[in-house]
Amino acid sequence: MDLARTDFYLDGQWVAADAGETVAVRNPATEEVVAAVPAGTAADVDRAVAAARAAFPGWADTAPVERAAHLDRLHAALSARADDIARTVALELGTPLKVATRVQAGLPLTVLHSYVELAARPPADETVGNSLVVREPVGVVGAITPWNYPLHQVVAKLAPALAAGCTVVLKPSELTPLTAYLLFDAIHEAGLPPGVVNLVTGTGPVVGEAIAAHPDVDMVSFTGSTATGRRISHLAADRIARVALELGGKSANLVLDDADLGTAVKVGVGNAFLNSGQTCTAWTRLLVHRDRYDEALDLAAKAAAGYRLGDPFDPATRLGPLVSAAQRERVLGHVARGLADGGRLVCGGPDAPVPDRGFFVAPTVIADVDPDSALAQEEVFGPVLAVIGFDDEDEAVTIANNSRYGLAGAVWSADEERALRVARRMRTGAVDVNGAPFNPLAPFGGYKQSGLGRELGRHGLEEFLQVKAIQR
Ligand code: NAD
Repeated sequence: MDLARTDFYLDGQWVAADAGETVAVRNPATEEVVAAVPAGTAADVDRAVAAARAAFPGWADTAPVERAAHLDRLHAALSARADDIARTVALELGTPLKVATRVQAGLPLTVLHSYVELAARPPADETVGNSLVVREPVGVVGAITPWNYPLHQVVAKLAPALAAGCTVVLKPSELTPLTAYLLFDAIHEAGLPPGVVNLVTGTGPVVGEAIAAHPDVDMVSFTGSTATGRRISHLAADRIARVALELGGKSANLVLDDADLGTAVKVGVGNAFLNSGQTCTAWTRLLVHRDRYDEALDLAAKAAAGYRLGDPFDPATRLGPLVSAAQRERVLGHVARGLADGGRLVCGGPDAPVPDRGFFVAPTVIADVDPDSALAQEEVFGPVLAVIGFDDEDEAVTIANNSRYGLAGAVWSADEERALRVARRMRTGAVDVNGAPFNPLAPFGGYKQSGLGRELGRHGLEEFLQVKAIQR
């Protein structure tokens, strides 16, 4: 695998970046620089947007079945690169290779495949009285994505945007840009028409802001932190451009008194620690009935202690490093604050052993966390689980909803009807009952400060459509 990339993808071609600044890419498990990519400028964004604008009418007019055929070819080209994708994510992000293969490479392929069919069957025209209501693509989409699921976050925007007939300018995270190059190799091989998708790498303040503020970008689709989402909204508001935002989370895993505690805690810890806790939907607050609290803590501590830290390429590793030194310092700061605020360390913590090199944080469980404290309110984005007790169902729901976020969550009960009632009371975009499997066709997105709009499936495609009423 050749990691050196010196170009952007503009108007259907790899175009060498001016020999200017680059952004270094680090392996977080060794702290070594392993690659560099060009740091784009506002002028590079101008070229990418111009290419996307020029390609838009042709792509919007392409028959849905032809767009579906393009996505199918892209799926084949990307599938052929699945091993390289998993290895690249293990290298640039530190996700253990086994998880990277299943989630970081497997999930985007599943999502892309789902849009082959959805692209072929766009929403039908409707008749409302004397009006014909038609749906049309929004136009040029600026996609700005984070580092934690580098390919999935891109595909979750690109596939529905293309299926809807939009053209795209992508800026991947500067921390994990290498996977995007594999995607664009596949795009080139699949022969998508020039200008339909364009890649500019670089930093958020330069390339990201140039995309968000660009007068010719009709919609900005962003996944990342709530603070950046706010900034992008301000930039887009100046020209009343549409924004879709997938932001942070602080999701609750609500374990009722009649739940299968062993499964609920084991699955809950696994969810919280997936990708070293760098998952926006992570169930980072474990809410347990007080009658079963001590038992749950025991189970959580045992489960957490079983997460072996180490080299992402070692098959025995279950927990990789965090993405950067800055993230490690942030996460350790949250742990220290949680303990200072009265939390009780049950497992891990700042002094637990970790490998000498790499941005590792030990799997950590903190009990007796005050629901109003920073540890229960702030998104930590590391392998840190906060455990909170409750006395009854109403209190559990109140604690779960005591958050400015509302992205995901879980409920466990032996009585499914009871669990569903509780799920409906949770102010959050998704709830899993008794460990139900992930559904790639279900709408995904947040309530409150977790975002605006939905991704995935039919709902994800509709975000990229405008509605027009034609009276006759
Ligand atoms: P981030 O907000 O720092 O960066 C995300 C992207 O925005 C990057 O490409 C970055 O370069 C760019 N960016 C940064 N500043 C910008 C600016 N001023 N203008 C335009 N673009 C800018 O987020 P991150 O640290 O990469 O990702 C972690 C965050 O993402 C967490 O908060 C996590 O919860 C969230 N996230 C949300 C979802 C979701 O679907 N809701 C999914 C994954 C991650």
